[in-house]
Amino acid sequence: MKYRFHSFTELMEILHTEQIALEEYALKREAFIWGIPENAVRDEVDRRIAVTRRSLIKGLADPQRSRSGLTQGAAVSYYGAARRFIHSPVFRRAAAYALSINEVNACGGKIVAFPTAGSCGIAPGAIWAWWDTYHSDTEPETAVLLPGIPEMIDPPYDPKLRGAFLVSSLTGVLIAQRATLAGAEGGCQAECGCAGAMAACALGYLEALSTGDCFSAAALSLKNTLGLACDPVAGLVEIPCVKRNAFIAVNALLAVDLTLSGIRSVIPFDEVVLAMKQIGDVMPAGIRETASGGLAVTPTALAIKEKLDTSAD
Ligand code: SF4
Repeated sequence: MKYRFHSFTELMEILHTEQIALEEYALKREAFIWGIPENAVRDEVDRRIAVTRRSLIKGLADPQRSRSGLTQGAAVSYYGAARRFIHSPVFRRAAAYALSINEVNACGGKIVAFPTAGSCGIAPGAIWAWWDTYHSDTEPETAVLLPGIPEMIDPPYDPKLRGAFLVSSLTGVLIAQRATLAGAEGGCQAECGCAGAMAACALGYLEALSTGDCFSAAALSLKNTLGLACDPVAGLVEIPCVKRNAFIAVNALLAVDLTLSGIRSVIPFDEVVLAMKQIGDVMPAGIRETASGGLAVTPTALAIKEKLDTSAD
């Protein structure tokens, strides 16, 4: 089987030639690359899924407060808020879970870089939101009202859930091969934008969409994050990163919601990735993780930085 591909088009040709499903191909490819049996890949993927679940629960069980004070338990505040505009359980969960996982990262907790630490809440948050809403063992009533969530911290996981994580990872591979996953190179479109595409593809897979439609949803999500600056306040992966994880998890869900309505991306996935690369190439250095432009040089951000620098002396 061919494991090298440089585009979604090439990947589709392989899937068609080999008559193999996307998640199965992703699994075999990992086994080939690492030179390990497929069962070992399953175990490793499950181990990482468990880490995402633990971080999700940790951030919702206790408000996460970072040393800088910039992270203040937003996941707990949002998850428990009585007043809300968004009533859809899957949307609310995706936002809360993405916040939760990324707040754990901001506080130095254990997460899975997905594809990076700054964007770690988006794809796992969206996947787990779908799972807890549509596939959990909780009573439908509980699933709608959102309070307790099953722990599910112990592998092995359901093959469908594992498949969603594998498909998501393969989407990241496609973007990494033609563009970049680094905010320092391509801005936040490369980190959170890519994570949104990874989430959309996984959600499409969970919804049993065709592979073409999964990547159309990924294209829709990625298109709407093109040009996103990386301008973290005081150089810390907190502002805008933490809340951006929630926004982009919801962006990915909307991309799949649109796809379920029959709406497709006019620009194919491969071309959107190349556009992302092109935009990243012309981005000024000030908005490529140098914390010397954009939000990072607003008066409030500069005052925060000065205060943090003084307290560190
Ligand atoms: S703003 Fe920069 S540091 Fe923050 S998540 Fe995006 S790419 Fe990462």
